[in-house]
Amino acid sequence: MINIPKGTKDALPSESYKWQYLEGKLRRVASLYNVREIRTPVFEHTELFVRSIGDGTDVVSKEMYSFEDKGGRSITLKPEGTAPVARSFIENSLDALSLPLKMYYITPCFRYERPQAGRLREFHQFGIEFYGATSPYLDLDCISLAYDALKELGLKNVVLRLNSIGCPECRKTYTEALKAYFANHLDVMCGTCKERYERNPLRLLDCKSPICKNIGAGAPKITDYLCDDCKNHHDVLCGLLKDNDIPYVIDENIVRGLDYYTRTVFEFVTNELGAQGTVCGGGRYDNLVSSIGGKQTGCVGFAMGLERLLMLMEEQGVDFCPTNPKVFVMSQSSTYAGTCMKIVSELRRNGISADTEMTGKSLKAQFKYADKINAEYGVVIGGSEIETNTVKVKHLSSSSETECALDELTDFLKNN
Ligand code: ATP
Ligand code: MG
Repeated sequence: MINIPKGTKDALPSESYKWQYLEGKLRRVASLYNVREIRTPVFEHTELFVRSIGDGTDVVSKEMYSFEDKGGRSITLKPEGTAPVARSFIENSLDALSLPLKMYYITPCFRYERPQAGRLREFHQFGIEFYGATSPYLDLDCISLAYDALKELGLKNVVLRLNSIGCPECRKTYTEALKAYFANHLDVMCGTCKERYERNPLRLLDCKSPICKNIGAGAPKITDYLCDDCKNHHDVLCGLLKDNDIPYVIDENIVRGLDYYTRTVFEFVTNELGAQGTVCGGGRYDNLVSSIGGKQTGCVGFAMGLERLLMLMEEQGVDFCPTNPKVFVMSQSSTYAGTCMKIVSELRRNGISADTEMTGKSLKAQFKYADKINAEYGVVIGGSEIETNTVKVKHLSSSSETECALDELTDFLKNN
């Protein structure tokens, strides 16, 4: 037997309605915010991710699915959705459109990680990308969309944690202060942090090991090092969140794992999913487009992990509103199979989801099948039904029956 690759999952027919429910809600919230979908390829040139995400990050240095294609190019399965959108924005001159340009995507992502609950090698993201403005109003709009989406999904106890990591200018002084602080603790910190100290000191605050986290809690705070413009941006955003009743807590240890962030960074976090509690991460990245060859462009966005959202929705007992067939039409014997097919064709053409027997099952087995597929109603067709033009429509979960004319079955099911 050939098994599914480690760290990947099938969405089985019995579960896929949950995905559809989730994605439908997210698309709906996006359209309320005047956000249009963008679809980019599943793979890109490796260089795109190296240049934008940064080669000092875990994603680029350890987690990418990269390979050489038959033409000798280095290709990478997208580990995230932001860089491909930036590539498309530049390549298609989308800055020539009216800005801001508001886009969303739903995409699979690939990262070579140690699989565990809420951490897969193929996972899915819903992402938002707002391009073309540096105003904190755009940050607000983006965070507000995430907040509304989580509410629309029926989720509770998800907290917005907010920080600013400033611009490359204020980060320079801050990085020096961080290095001076961590220098005294480095000998007890994890191996990855020892590397981070040299390559990307900001990420020392991002470590999940309890010892490093503890040390990080005493580190200098970025907010004490912000330049006037960055500080003003952060203060204005905090005021806007308050004005718009979006609760948040400031968390100076949020730095985000990727290199391209500037100023605003945020996460929506729950304590109901163990270590994988971040369901949404995002921020501003005003230098991303210019870092891969475009013009300086103010951008803000986020990505939500769909598997984590689904886990949390299941945990919190959200109703995914499965859609089941309205009716299963059963044939008394195989003689009536053709008639049953005609009846369901008519129903389907009138917008009623219907199915019928096709495999020579006994009537008892047909009733069992109708129950299994969660059909709402069952109808049996035999000689007397056709002769008298009368059928009994059985409501399967309550077993109550209503008689109706066979040629009025469509109307009956439309109205019930
Ligand atoms: P983490 O700190 O949990 O590794 P991250 O900072 O690497 O997350 P992002 O790159 O910000 O994650 O991706 C955005 C969201 O995508 C995360 O908040 C999470 O919900 C989801 N996500 C990231 N990596 C995975 C994964 N391997 N499996 C499932 N979901 C993931
Ligand atoms: Mg990660």
